[in-house]
Amino acid sequence: MPARAVRVNRADAGEAVARLGKTSIRRLRIRRDFSAAPEEKLCRTPVRGYRRAQFFSAMIIPNVNVLSDGQLKEVTDILTAYGCKVMVITGAERCVYAIVGDERNDDMVTKIEGLPYINRVDRIQSPHKLMDIRSSLATHRVKMGGIVLGSEPFFCAGPCTIDPKNPNLTIETAHAVKEAGAHALRGGVWKPRTNPYSYQGDAKALLVLMEASRQTGLPVDTEVMDEEHLRLAIEAGVHCIQVGARNALNYSLLRQIGEAIAGRDVCVLLKRGMHLGTVQEFISAAEYIVQLGNPNVILCPRGTQPTLDGYRNHPDESIVPLLKERTWAPVVVDPSHSVGKAAYVPAASLAAIAYGADGLCIECNVHPGKGIGDDPKQAVTPEVLRRIISQTRELWRIARGA
Ligand code: PEP
Ligand code: MN
Repeated sequence: MPARAVRVNRADAGEAVARLGKTSIRRLRIRRDFSAAPEEKLCRTPVRGYRRAQFFSAMIIPNVNVLSDGQLKEVTDILTAYGCKVMVITGAERCVYAIVGDERNDDMVTKIEGLPYINRVDRIQSPHKLMDIRSSLATHRVKMGGIVLGSEPFFCAGPCTIDPKNPNLTIETAHAVKEAGAHALRGGVWKPRTNPYSYQGDAKALLVLMEASRQTGLPVDTEVMDEEHLRLAIEAGVHCIQVGARNALNYSLLRQIGEAIAGRDVCVLLKRGMHLGTVQEFISAAEYIVQLGNPNVILCPRGTQPTLDGYRNHPDESIVPLLKERTWAPVVVDPSHSVGKAAYVPAASLAAIAYGADGLCIECNVHPGKGIGDDPKQAVTPEVLRRIISQTRELWRIARGA
């Protein structure tokens, strides 16, 4: 059933989402109208009443990949009797069923665990229940551009900023990054600029980005800074929504993104905030998105502040092993913003892969000097990109023994 046809009241929202979550991703690709009635939005927001409880405290692990409608109803009925709801988190191969509400009632847990198709109820004592490496989502794999992240190095490349007045520069660059071996195209439509008088982006650039995607077949990544950008990007068919470093702690944006991508074949590239503190703070930002139903989040360290004198930021690719110890999420490092100068990008790329990154997101332009935004100073040329790809592939083989 297309999502736009669903009408439920608040009391039935959990069950409605359970049904939507079980629908295959292909079917859910049907474009939803973001100006939809509030009831429809409620379907995508089953935990609205529980938002103050930031994290799920318990996970139902079935013996099967996906519960049947009848099984899900049986589970929902038990939870409802104890004032709880179920939230379906849809992975590529299996679903995870989070208990929303107070999970501490042992009778409820015993009844759920007594069902023949339920293996157990996990109560993970971690602030990021779903992102945790011990979560049952740990077997989930994020796919983009035909790559299962983690199985081989993943490369996303393209201009910092798409100049809508010079669409050919982006189109030419898109073909060149594909030719160099990239699996996905990046390009800024809307730009977070320190200086309010600098170019801020233009929705017309979205058309250029999607045309580049159409011509090359590459999935595209672009940053959104507010709900309107998000709506436009999703409607245009952007494959990966980027959360920029400046918004990594914008929890309402993270939740809006989580709601918008639930049930869709869309990924999120979550940059590490330039002022983010602990490793856990980064992972918890991802939890905000994943808890709303779509686990396709990629973590992207991109350098922090204060800077290392000479670099644009303080390169932070050494965070990769620490992330890998705590979370199953793929890590794609952005060396371009980290060092901020094209000449330093190749070494930073090698360092990231040596530290265990699953891929790289690199600014690249066929004519960096003609680009706008960061390109004149930090975009590498396609020739350099090709060399980075070949050398990091070799390093990957050495480091992973692949
Ligand atoms: C970008 O990707 O062009 C960008 C602005 O990134 P960040 O948010 O990491 O600064
Ligand atoms: Mn940039």
